[in-house]
Amino acid sequence: MLKIVLASRNKHKLVELRFFLSGLPFEIVSLDEFPGVPLFVEDGTTFKDNALKKSHQVFQHTNMFSLADDSGLEVFYLNGRPGVYSARYAGNNSDDNANNQKLLTEMKGVAPRRRGAQFHAVLALVGKGIEKTVEGLCPGAIAESPRGTNGFGYDPIFIPKGFRRTYAELAAEEKNMISHRSKAFGKMRDILKSEIH
Ligand code: IMP
Repeated sequence: MLKIVLASRNKHKLVELRFFLSGLPFEIVSLDEFPGVPLFVEDGTTFKDNALKKSHQVFQHTNMFSLADDSGLEVFYLNGRPGVYSARYAGNNSDDNANNQKLLTEMKGVAPRRRGAQFHAVLALVGKGIEKTVEGLCPGAIAESPRGTNGFGYDPIFIPKGFRRTYAELAAEEKNMISHRSKAFGKMRDILKSEIH
């Protein structure tokens, strides 16, 4: 069976990515099997730059098809921040809680109608003779305070459009039906089916 390396070290994302790839005729290989691949430096200014950079780096080291995700939260009131800096918004060694608190502080007192935001994901597939990217968006709003314990990252403070609950209050299956990553994956599944045999 054809192998695809998932070019991510984010355990939570890997769970989601494996879910989206289930049922496809590929063997999914973890980056843990390639300790020689250096840590990624995410210095691109767009999700696409970073996703492509990660995928190319893994392809170069493994010579196998490589699939990378780069994603983050864009808050319109903050002109798109934290965006590509989502993982380290409150500082280089920041954790999810610190990032959420920083964002909530910046949004303190901002009226509900101005709390619009979107999650944005770009997936990049790189292999011999192939380079493809797709993106997915999930519109929503920033909550007043964190709610829920599922998921990771900004899940407790993001309310997807059409819901009252945050991403972190949704069951994993519910989030996976509507999320930015699921939308990007819908497009990537078609590419995988048609391009990789
Ligand atoms: P990356 O690993 O550099 O793409 O960092 C993505 C960061 O964006 C994560 O560390 C989270 O902070 C945030 N993020 C991306 N996708 C999600 C999601 O589905 N839920 C919550 N936070 C997310």
